[in-house]
Amino acid sequence: LAVIELRRQNASSFATYRSDFHTRALRRRRLRQDLERAEEEGQFELFYQPQIDLSTGRTIGMEALLRWRHPAYGLLPPNGFLAELEQMPQAKRVDKWVLQAATAQAAAWSGAQPLRVAINIFPDRLGPELVQDVERALDAHHLAPEALEIEITERHALDDLDGAASTVRSLRNLGVSVALDDFGTGFASLSAISALDVNRLKIDRSFVSDMLTNGKSVAIIATLIELGRRIEMSILAEGIETAEQRDLLHAFGCNEGQGYLFGKPGPPELLWPTGVSPAAAVPHAETCTGPA
Ligand code: C2E
Ligand code: MG
Ligand code: MG
Ligand code: MG
Repeated sequence: LAVIELRRQNASSFATYRSDFHTRALRRRRLRQDLERAEEEGQFELFYQPQIDLSTGRTIGMEALLRWRHPAYGLLPPNGFLAELEQMPQAKRVDKWVLQAATAQAAAWSGAQPLRVAINIFPDRLGPELVQDVERALDAHHLAPEALEIEITERHALDDLDGAASTVRSLRNLGVSVALDDFGTGFASLSAISALDVNRLKIDRSFVSDMLTNGKSVAIIATLIELGRRIEMSILAEGIETAEQRDLLHAFGCNEGQGYLFGKPGPPELLWPTGVSPAAAVPHAETCTGPA
């Protein structure tokens, strides 16, 4: 009897597995179709999140973050679709669009106070073509290169460190700055970080989120900040949610921060109206709908 029961269980879990697999494959195909349409029909938007000078409390930059206004599911953050998009030919066009849209927005914002706008790019975009695109976008929107920053991650340099370092150099020669995003989570060696020679290190949110409860995170943060200062790079901590985190990071020597404490990502017109120069961005609560 036990054997029969076991057989039955196996058969049914296999059936469940098959149907799961089937659903997953279907869902993925559907996602890819939707993404193709999203690119064609302009369903992508950029939200912006303020970056703050921790000494003065002033907004010094905005990070552009991709959002998808899905016709059925509403506003979607990138974690549900970015990995799929990255494998599609559309990825390159989305990156180009992000560059265009963010440069245009930076130009609209650049008034009395220059506001640096940072963008994220897909790893395989870090090359000579990106430098050309950046140069053209700056020209087209009459934007000062200092108002643009490109965020890369250690993944960008994984296959070809020399190539990545040379692209970073070209961008910096244009006057555009480069930040190393999610710093501390990758596997780049210290020599790789030194070779990349970016302007700014962005300490990953994972360290900040448990720095008040985890002694190891505090030690890592203090070390990353010290490292950055010694190699003369700016340090920006991401994911700051409390005043306590902000104060401790500042005390450690971190000069810039970003996180829900200062403002959630939001549509540009709500954050910093064009033609107006508030001292700090108005916090705007992000509401993303759709399936988790
Ligand atoms: P990232 O570049 O590290 O961006 C920071 C992420 O942390 C954003 O998530 C932001 O909304 C979130 N965040 C910021 N402050 C806080 C905080 O205080 N608490 C918490 N819990 N979260 C915070 P988002 O917008 O979902 O973006 C996720 C990732 O998707 C980004 O990570 C970036 O790697 C990628 N991404 C976003 N926009 C683009 C894009 O236009 N192109 C490309 N290629 N990748 C993008
Ligand atoms: Mg980023
Ligand atoms: Mg980041
Ligand atoms: Mg991160």
